[in-house]
Amino acid sequence: MQICEICGERSTKLFECRICGRRVCILEFNAKEKICEICEMTLCRKCKNQLSIAVCNLCGILVCEDCSVKIGVTYLCRDCYNRTKRAQT
Ligand SMILES: [Zn+2]
Ligand SMILES: [Zn+2]
Ligand SMILES: [Zn+2]
Ligand SMILES: [Zn+2]
Repeated sequence: MQICEICGERSTKLFECRICGRRVCILEFNAKEKICEICEMTLCRKCKNQLSIAVCNLCGILVCEDCSVKIGVTYLCRDCYNRTKRAQT
């Protein structure tokens, strides 16, 4: 028996999160993305590969460093950034 690192329940089968490496039971595991529930909540909504670092100032989605553009003190996702750039030119 192993113990889930999120809920603390004993389980015969634990899954390892590819982002944080936590070993969790099926209840807190997203088998499709191979990530735990905690990482799923903070995962970048664009690439679904890295944890987000910011929220897009326009559309409000979570974005990681690679998927965002920093403008002053705020962040935009790449889509919104491209849209505003097009609108200006
Ligand atoms: Zn669990
Ligand atoms: Zn995780
Ligand atoms: Zn990303
Ligand atoms: Zn956006």
